[in-house]
Amino acid sequence: MTIIDGKLISAQVKQELKEEVEKQKVNGGKIPHLAAILVGNNGSSETYVASKIKSCEEIGFKSTLIRRDSTTTEVELLEIIEQLNNDDDIDGFIVQLPLPEQINVDKVIEAIEPRKDVDGFHPINLGRMAKGLPAYISATPFGVLELIKRYKIETSGKHCVVVGRSHIVGLPMSILMQRNDYPGNCTVSLVHSRTKNLAEITRQADILIAAIGKPEFITADMVKEGAVVIDVGLTRVIDTTKKSGFALKGDVKFDEVASKCSYITPVPGGVGLMTVAALMYNTLLSARKEIYK
Ligand code: NAP
Repeated sequence: MTIIDGKLISAQVKQELKEEVEKQKVNGGKIPHLAAILVGNNGSSETYVASKIKSCEEIGFKSTLIRRDSTTTEVELLEIIEQLNNDDDIDGFIVQLPLPEQINVDKVIEAIEPRKDVDGFHPINLGRMAKGLPAYISATPFGVLELIKRYKIETSGKHCVVVGRSHIVGLPMSILMQRNDYPGNCTVSLVHSRTKNLAEITRQADILIAAIGKPEFITADMVKEGAVVIDVGLTRVIDTTKKSGFALKGDVKFDEVASKCSYITPVPGGVGLMTVAALMYNTLLSARKEIYK
């Protein structure tokens, strides 16, 4: 059994990006500039945004953080998006989710200029990705693909079961794993909360990708011997033994599942770090106008 080291791979990706940015500086190219909008004070969102800004600094990107309080209206947020859409120095920007309930998430995502949608959430990017056209691939599925690639995990002809169908993780993940490419060429099953006999399906998976948000939902009896298990789940649970007062839990019961797997991602230290690295990669692609001319 191999534990997939997201910390190591994300550090490699970031180092590669840093070298690319240095080359670009020498050649007089544009320094990639990522902006993040954070509305409200959700603890997890604060952590995610802080790590995105820190990664920009490490790699040599410019970054801008725009903070607004939780009473921000949809109109106010749409105005900020419009400004960023029209700011030539900003290559890409993200609106950290979740948003306060008075704001319609779909409306916000659709307001982002697809050329700057480095999170890959806009329907145009999702649609282009589904058709196999150049597009920003949402950061978390992109990070998962990179882990599979760097560990040279065989995917062609395998049965991949994705648990969860959200538009930011499960759905794009399922599309990417079935495409005619590497990683890809899997036979994909996408299961969700209405699926009957879920364990029967997960037990058939050569590659099992869990993106549910239910700590330790996937137990050993739901996993086939020798499976590749990718745990996207990231939930804060109370843990009084920790200084912070909480621990991060994945969707997989790692202690009992790991010994059955050929490969498995831990939480933390797996997919989470790759999401940030993938976002940085998309920002570099945008600065170079590699997706959209
Ligand atoms: P989401 O929007 O809440 O979607 C969860 C999905 O799981 C839904 O499709 C839901 O089914 C399904 N589901 C929920 N309970 C289930 C059950 N008992 N059996 C089968 N399916 C079930 O969540 P998300 O945004 O995709 O995120 C999923 C997890 O990934 C969360 O823990 C999140 O924190 C984590 N995440 C991690 C990263 C990272 O960087 N590592 C990035 C994004 C998200 P229905 O559609 O039927 O409701």
